[in-house]
Amino acid sequence: MFRLAVNSQWRKKRLLILCYHGISRFDEHLWRPRLYMHPEVFRQRLEILKQGGYNVLPLGEGLRRLQAGELPSKSLAITFDDGGYDFYAAALPVIKDYGFPITVYQTTYYSDHQIPVFNVVCSYLLWKAQDRVLRDPKELGLAEPLDLKTDSGRMRIVRKLVVDAEARNLTGFQKNDLAAKLAESLEISYDEIVSSRMFQLMNRSEVDELAAAGIDFQLHTHRHRTPLEEGLFRKEIQDNRRSLRKLGETAIHFCYPSGIYRPEFRSWLQMENVVSATTCDSGLASRRSNPFLLPRLVDTSDRSTLEFEGWLTGLASLLTVRKAAPQIIPAAAGSASRSADADQSALVRKPGGND
Ligand SMILES: [Zn+2]
Repeated sequence: MFRLAVNSQWRKKRLLILCYHGISRFDEHLWRPRLYMHPEVFRQRLEILKQGGYNVLPLGEGLRRLQAGELPSKSLAITFDDGGYDFYAAALPVIKDYGFPITVYQTTYYSDHQIPVFNVVCSYLLWKAQDRVLRDPKELGLAEPLDLKTDSGRMRIVRKLVVDAEARNLTGFQKNDLAAKLAESLEISYDEIVSSRMFQLMNRSEVDELAAAGIDFQLHTHRHRTPLEEGLFRKEIQDNRRSLRKLGETAIHFCYPSGIYRPEFRSWLQMENVVSATTCDSGLASRRSNPFLLPRLVDTSDRSTLEFEGWLTGLASLLTVRKAAPQIIPAAAGSASRSADADQSALVRKPGGND
């Protein structure tokens, strides 16, 4: 059935856009298997693409050829969201072995500010300390009872920290101090986490270096959010481009942070000269797809090889019933002016969600 599907005319007219987030350097894949993949699993995926004779196209070329009806058989594109330092340190060495073209949707606030993404690091700290007791919770604005043992309990604590930080209009660096305090009260060395660059994004010189080496950088907003007010939304794109400096001119493809989209976003993106936008909704893109709602396959550690191959061939797309990613708009999304800081809330917002 795989062979029939992959060689079908139906598949030939479609582009599969793969979506990855993090490749783990330590134990991140144990903490969030849907966000981080072990590098060996990632290598197996690329090996399957190579052995299967898939045509991995640069994203822009793939989209152009999709529209022109000139896709080669078994075509796909590979995208990475966020542009974490782990892309540089853990994904790239694997990618280099295969030479596939890659697009990184780079969010830039935490690229400009080299500190761990606040709510992500808080979530990780709590997971690391799940068997411990948090000392002096009041100093962190937290009230007991605190449940560190369950994912939902830890999520509640992170949400409270994020909401409080937003309400107090804390800067990124103030939030970083708060995360350091949390680490201290959990008896974890924050310095080690910071110096390891876990949960940090690639800095500008790393982005420039990889761009010169052929990695394609595209848009993912500056602060990893999509405000519901046009001016603020468009500022996210402008700031994102500005931060990508000269790459900004070639950055015309966009990926919705957290996979959240609304009808009005299309015209705002078009006004910023964006020509395509990808979601976290599962599917293969066809000529009939809305170019501002292109589906992707979010590939995660908990997908089996069989399921992955099912998607490559297109068969899984035909069999899947539920395809859309959850559209939960974070409270802060419509009020980006409250804080100049990035939130990246979706990275920890829902255990089973897409970033
Ligand atoms: Zn993202």
